[in-house]
Amino acid sequence: MSSFSRVCLCSARAESAGSIPARRVRRLFSFQRHLLSSRLLRGAPHLNPLHILDEDYCGQAKCMLEKVGSWNFDIFLFDRLTNGNSLVFLTFHLLNQYGLIELFQLDMVKVRQFLVLVQEDYHNQNPYHNAVHAADVTQAMHCYLREPKLAQSLTSFDILLGLLAAATHDLDHPGVNQPFLIKTNHYLAALYRNTSVLENHHWRSAVGLLRETELFSHLPAEDSIERQLGSLILATDISRQNEYLSRFRTHLDENNLCLGHASHRHFVLQMALKCADICNPCRPWELSKQWSEKVTEEFFHQGDIEKKHKLEISPLCDSEANTIASVQIGFMTYVVEPLFAEWARFSDTRLSQTMLGHLGLNKASWSAMDPEASGSSEEGESEPGRATEEPSSRALSQGSQES
Ligand SMILES: [Zn+2]
Repeated sequence: MSSFSRVCLCSARAESAGSIPARRVRRLFSFQRHLLSSRLLRGAPHLNPLHILDEDYCGQAKCMLEKVGSWNFDIFLFDRLTNGNSLVFLTFHLLNQYGLIELFQLDMVKVRQFLVLVQEDYHNQNPYHNAVHAADVTQAMHCYLREPKLAQSLTSFDILLGLLAAATHDLDHPGVNQPFLIKTNHYLAALYRNTSVLENHHWRSAVGLLRETELFSHLPAEDSIERQLGSLILATDISRQNEYLSRFRTHLDENNLCLGHASHRHFVLQMALKCADICNPCRPWELSKQWSEKVTEEFFHQGDIEKKHKLEISPLCDSEANTIASVQIGFMTYVVEPLFAEWARFSDTRLSQTMLGHLGLNKASWSAMDPEASGSSEEGESEPGRATEEPSSRALSQGSQES
């Protein structure tokens, strides 16, 4: 599916909206990129972005990787130290550290090739949904994979899938949400029948790159990898949050999660990826605040495009009606708190307590900045710690903050 969306948002949207003039195409079309990657696979000389790092910076990045399992890991600093290659460096390091490259007899050149293509297919111009977000989610996933319950039961295959799903879960994200794609008649919305449009596209784009690089072509489980990768990525659709959360809650209430069963381990991996995807409010304030600013900037940018073209402004995207604080407080209350409360029931560890601690402190900080927003979220919360169907909850789902 590498033929999709090699164009910037403006041109992709213009293509679908018809009446809006086409803009300059900024990204490579798939056939151009395919030719380029084929050249690379044939060993043609090329500039390797990973080799143009200043040695000193590279040394500091390596130092940081020694603490890659720390919840305070500063992915923004790591991205600067790796010259914008955080996703490649971090994922390669983790695959190697878990012994997956050796175990699955992966070709190192193909692994690097795949990761470089994955990183390139994220849109750097997106304030939020870019390769740094993918690297951040992969780092969080690593933290969860090390939690005792998971570490004791997950197989190497599960870990490989978990890391790959995290690295590719937002691949080729256009920087707008599903409702925007639907209302502008974007071809992706038609292709996926208005259902998990972005998540389906991220998955199929990842499969495209796996096939292009033939990373798993030597493994009999290639089909299974592609299918399971899809199931993990599709779980990040925030509009299906309540469905996953109810199932998780029922398992916990009945205490019947059996991690000896592959299907239960897969479900726990889905929940881990969902947590990793929306864990920004559970990070220390200095990191969390930056993510909040970035995601709101992306929302407001979408709102500005909608305004400019006289489309209905999506929930949370109107910069005149929302503040960063109001968006964050609603998101924390209706989406993040219910999920992490259940995750802490499942994995009652120091990390879970740390995350809940940061979540509380960060929410208090935003509330102090916007007391009005804080008050309205409390009114809508019928049952603390439980996902609700309040209007704000639905708006947040539609806003798809971090899917
Ligand atoms: Zn995401």
